[in-house]
Amino acid sequence: MTLEDYEALLERQGHACAICERPYDYLRPLHVDHDHGTSHVRGLLCAGCNTGLGKLGDSVPTLWKAVRYLLGSPPYHTRRWQAAFDEVDPILRVWRRADNEN
Ligand SMILES: [Zn+2]
Repeated sequence: MTLEDYEALLERQGHACAICERPYDYLRPLHVDHDHGTSHVRGLLCAGCNTGLGKLGDSVPTLWKAVRYLLGSPPYHTRRWQAAFDEVDPILRVWRRADNEN
């Protein structure tokens, strides 16, 4: 990735981390996040988000399970967040079906 590519991506992301939206900081620049299998550049992430994705194996099912886990505990386990919690299991069922088909 060239400096021009980086700056163009930074502009498209609004000069912020693609996940937590922390503003770009010259002292803590955003990391180029890529798919380790294909080398496809997914976006620019702060160190925390980049490390977090890696620690969860860059796995969408694992990340959804983490969402379900957090939604099941305070402060999220409230009526206000119930609709979001109810959305997670159907999404995980889709992933399980996809796993069984492969
Ligand atoms: Zn971030």
